[in-house]
Amino acid sequence: MEMRVPMKVPEGAIDEQSSVALLIDDSPTMHKLLSLRLRSEGLEVLSALSGADGVREAQEKQPSVVLLDIDMPGMDGFEVLRLLKDDESTLHIPVIMLSGLFKAQDKVTAFDLGAVDFITKPFDVTELRVRVRSVLRINYLMRMLSQQANIDGLTGLYNRAHFNQRWAEAVAGVERHKRPLSLAMMDLDHFKSVNDTYGHPAGDSVIQGMAKIVRRECRETDIACRYGGEEFVLVMPETGPEDAAAVCERIRQAFGEVVWPKHPERSITCSMGIVGTDGAAVVEASDWLELADRNLYRAKKEGRNRVVTSSLEGGVKLAQAS
Ligand SMILES: [Mg+2]
Repeated sequence: MEMRVPMKVPEGAIDEQSSVALLIDDSPTMHKLLSLRLRSEGLEVLSALSGADGVREAQEKQPSVVLLDIDMPGMDGFEVLRLLKDDESTLHIPVIMLSGLFKAQDKVTAFDLGAVDFITKPFDVTELRVRVRSVLRINYLMRMLSQQANIDGLTGLYNRAHFNQRWAEAVAGVERHKRPLSLAMMDLDHFKSVNDTYGHPAGDSVIQGMAKIVRRECRETDIACRYGGEEFVLVMPETGPEDAAAVCERIRQAFGEVVWPKHPERSITCSMGIVGTDGAAVVEASDWLELADRNLYRAKKEGRNRVVTSSLEGGVKLAQAS
């Protein structure tokens, strides 16, 4: 089995190629001019002829950049900008202001409200294209950086900081909506001896191999994280403990069957502790972790290479040994 981990981008993947610009301007001529020129740059251009339509389009279509006219009847560009920056869903979209009149105060107001650039009409279309490109590039890099802050460098899974954040949200959601949720803690067995015997690069390959299997076997909605060292956690929303155990059992089996290129003579196993609810339980986020950890400890103690599961309802134990 080849153990290269492709450089992931888990969810909300960023694709620089598919940039969409939204032009909000009351002048049809501007739309004709700009959509033609920006399309030849490989940008898809969406059009809104009024401020109100523009705000709605921005919320629904989530463009990569907004080009926003200041002088429009009804809702003007400043008002649109204010609304975009007040809304959680559009706050991150960079806005370039377009103005027919050059007033220094307008420029100050636009930047104060959160615009990233300001262009006075009539403008040179080449210059506009260059500025749009530069805004898109900076925004792309900023999003890459903020996403990488959540990613574990070795495996491409989410890191512990991201887990902590998502886990608190998941538990809060369960309490509100009485939905199923399960959490698995996973730990590679005798991992220290892999490092000691075959060296750290071999150990790293094993950790990457585990990450690859976890990613392959879990579902789209699951949140897979490297918790630290050779420890992983898997958050499984909308999943009760029995289904969670089935997912983890697949991971456990697949991992145990891997023939490692650097040490084909030695297979490696993992142990897992799961705790879950079918919807009724109200338990502190940190207590879940402790319960999952306790099951993991039990799996280790009972001989490793196994999954120990319990349900928060009545604490029924569904131990699965292999
Ligand atoms: Mg206008």
